[in-house]
Amino acid sequence: MSRIRGANTRPEKIVRSALHQNGFRFRLHRSDLPGKPDIVLPKYHAVIFVNGCFWHRHDCPRFKIPQTRRRFWLSKIDSNCERDRANKKALRELEWKVIVVWECALKGRTKIDLTGLVKRIQQMLNGSARRYLEIAGPIRPRS
Ligand SMILES: [Zn+2]
Repeated sequence: MSRIRGANTRPEKIVRSALHQNGFRFRLHRSDLPGKPDIVLPKYHAVIFVNGCFWHRHDCPRFKIPQTRRRFWLSKIDSNCERDRANKKALRELEWKVIVVWECALKGRTKIDLTGLVKRIQQMLNGSARRYLEIAGPIRPRS
Protein backbone atom coordinates (compact mmCIF):
# COMPACT_ATOMS: atom_id res chain seq x y z
CA MET A 1 0.00 0.00 0.00
CA SER A 2 1.37 3.33 -1.04
CA ARG A 3 1.47 6.19 1.43
CA ILE A 4 0.17 8.67 -1.06
CA ARG A 5 -2.79 6.75 -2.36
CA GLY A 6 -4.69 3.69 -1.25
CA ALA A 7 -4.12 0.51 -3.19
CA ASN A 8 -7.79 0.05 -4.01
CA THR A 9 -9.17 3.54 -4.41
CA ARG A 10 -12.54 3.79 -6.03
CA PRO A 11 -11.40 5.31 -9.34
CA GLU A 12 -8.97 2.45 -9.77
CA LYS A 13 -11.74 -0.09 -9.20
CA ILE A 14 -13.87 1.62 -11.83
CA VAL A 15 -11.14 1.22 -14.44
CA ARG A 16 -10.39 -2.35 -13.43
CA SER A 17 -13.96 -3.53 -13.62
CA ALA A 18 -14.56 -1.77 -16.96
CA LEU A 19 -11.49 -3.47 -18.41
CA HIS A 20 -12.38 -6.82 -16.91
CA GLN A 21 -15.90 -6.67 -18.34
CA ASN A 22 -14.35 -6.13 -21.74
CA GLY A 23 -12.20 -9.20 -21.52
CA PHE A 24 -8.91 -7.61 -20.48
CA ARG A 25 -6.78 -9.58 -18.09
CA PHE A 26 -4.30 -7.85 -15.88
CA ARG A 27 -2.18 -7.86 -12.79
CA LEU A 28 -2.15 -5.30 -10.04
CA HIS A 29 0.60 -3.24 -8.43
CA ARG A 30 3.60 -5.05 -9.82
CA SER A 31 6.25 -3.80 -7.46
CA ASP A 32 9.07 -4.80 -9.78
CA LEU A 33 8.07 -2.06 -12.23
CA PRO A 34 8.89 1.65 -11.86
CA GLY A 35 6.11 3.45 -10.00
CA LYS A 36 4.34 0.20 -9.09
CA PRO A 37 1.65 0.68 -11.76
CA ASP A 38 -1.97 0.26 -10.64
CA ILE A 39 -2.80 -2.04 -13.53
CA VAL A 40 -0.43 -4.10 -15.67
CA LEU A 41 -1.53 -5.64 -18.98
CA PRO A 42 1.23 -8.12 -19.75
CA LYS A 43 -0.23 -9.17 -23.09
CA TYR A 44 0.11 -5.61 -24.37
CA HIS A 45 3.26 -4.76 -22.47
CA ALA A 46 1.30 -1.84 -21.07
CA VAL A 47 0.67 -0.27 -17.71
CA ILE A 48 -2.09 1.98 -16.43
CA PHE A 49 -1.86 4.54 -13.66
CA VAL A 50 -5.09 5.85 -12.18
CA ASN A 51 -4.07 9.23 -10.83
CA GLY A 52 -5.79 11.39 -8.24
CA CYS A 53 -5.96 14.94 -9.63
CA PHE A 54 -4.88 16.49 -6.34
CA TRP A 55 -1.95 14.22 -5.55
CA HIS A 56 -0.55 14.33 -9.05
CA ARG A 57 -1.29 17.99 -9.83
CA HIS A 58 -3.66 17.64 -12.72
CA ASP A 59 -4.40 20.84 -14.57
CA CYS A 60 -8.11 20.65 -13.76
CA PRO A 61 -10.55 22.07 -11.19
CA ARG A 62 -9.99 19.12 -8.86
CA PHE A 63 -6.52 20.41 -8.15
CA LYS A 64 -6.58 23.12 -5.49
CA ILE A 65 -3.81 23.88 -3.05
CA PRO A 66 -5.28 23.87 0.47
CA GLN A 67 -5.36 27.24 2.20
CA THR A 68 -3.42 26.01 5.20
CA ARG A 69 0.10 24.56 5.15
CA ARG A 70 0.48 25.57 1.51
CA ARG A 71 4.25 25.13 1.51
CA PHE A 72 3.95 21.63 2.88
CA TRP A 73 1.40 20.58 0.28
CA LEU A 74 3.25 22.21 -2.58
CA SER A 75 6.50 20.47 -1.80
CA LYS A 76 4.76 17.15 -1.26
CA ILE A 77 2.91 17.38 -4.55
CA ASP A 78 5.99 18.63 -6.39
CA SER A 79 7.91 15.58 -5.30
CA ASN A 80 5.03 13.32 -6.36
CA CYS A 81 5.14 14.91 -9.81
CA GLU A 82 8.88 14.54 -10.06
CA ARG A 83 8.57 10.88 -9.18
CA ASP A 84 5.78 10.46 -11.75
CA ARG A 85 8.01 11.90 -14.46
CA ALA A 86 10.93 9.66 -13.53
CA ASN A 87 8.72 6.56 -13.42
CA LYS A 88 7.15 7.28 -16.79
CA LYS A 89 10.54 7.85 -18.35
CA ALA A 90 11.89 4.59 -16.89
CA LEU A 91 8.86 2.64 -18.11
CA ARG A 92 9.17 4.07 -21.60
CA GLU A 93 12.83 3.17 -21.68
CA LEU A 94 11.80 -0.39 -20.82
CA GLU A 95 9.39 -0.10 -23.77
CA TRP A 96 6.21 -0.31 -21.77
CA LYS A 97 3.20 1.52 -23.10
CA VAL A 98 1.96 3.93 -20.46
CA ILE A 99 -1.61 5.06 -19.91
CA VAL A 100 -2.67 7.61 -17.32
CA VAL A 101 -6.34 7.83 -16.39
CA TRP A 102 -7.14 10.89 -14.32
CA GLU A 103 -9.67 10.81 -11.51
CA CYS A 104 -11.69 13.59 -13.19
CA ALA A 105 -12.49 11.18 -16.04
CA LEU A 106 -14.10 8.83 -13.54
CA LYS A 107 -15.89 11.01 -11.02
CA GLY A 108 -18.29 13.91 -10.73
CA ARG A 109 -19.54 16.22 -13.46
CA THR A 110 -16.58 15.56 -15.75
CA LYS A 111 -17.05 11.80 -15.69
CA ILE A 112 -16.70 10.27 -19.15
CA ASP A 113 -18.58 7.35 -20.57
CA LEU A 114 -16.89 4.06 -19.61
CA THR A 115 -17.50 2.46 -22.99
CA GLY A 116 -15.62 5.35 -24.56
CA LEU A 117 -12.87 5.03 -21.98
CA VAL A 118 -12.34 1.35 -22.72
CA LYS A 119 -12.47 2.02 -26.46
CA ARG A 120 -9.70 4.62 -26.22
CA ILE A 121 -7.56 2.27 -24.16
CA GLN A 122 -8.25 -0.58 -26.57
CA GLN A 123 -7.29 1.49 -29.62
CA MET A 124 -4.06 2.57 -28.03
CA LEU A 125 -3.15 -0.97 -26.99
CA ASN A 126 -3.88 -2.40 -30.43
CA GLY A 127 -2.05 0.32 -32.32
CA SER A 128 1.68 0.40 -32.69
CA ALA A 129 2.39 4.10 -33.08
CA ARG A 130 1.29 5.41 -29.74
CA ARG A 131 3.28 4.68 -26.59
CA TYR A 132 1.62 7.14 -24.22
CA LEU A 133 -1.99 8.10 -23.56
CA GLU A 134 -3.68 10.33 -21.01
CA ILE A 135 -7.40 10.24 -20.41
CA ALA A 136 -9.02 13.06 -18.46
CA GLY A 137 -12.43 14.57 -17.99
CA PRO A 138 -13.26 17.56 -20.16
CA ILE A 139 -11.71 20.61 -18.50
CA ARG A 140 -14.24 23.12 -19.77
CA PRO A 141 -17.91 22.28 -19.65
CA ARG A 142 -19.17 21.58 -23.14
CA SER A 143 -21.94 23.86 -24.33
ZN1 LIG B 1 -8.26 16.07 -13.25
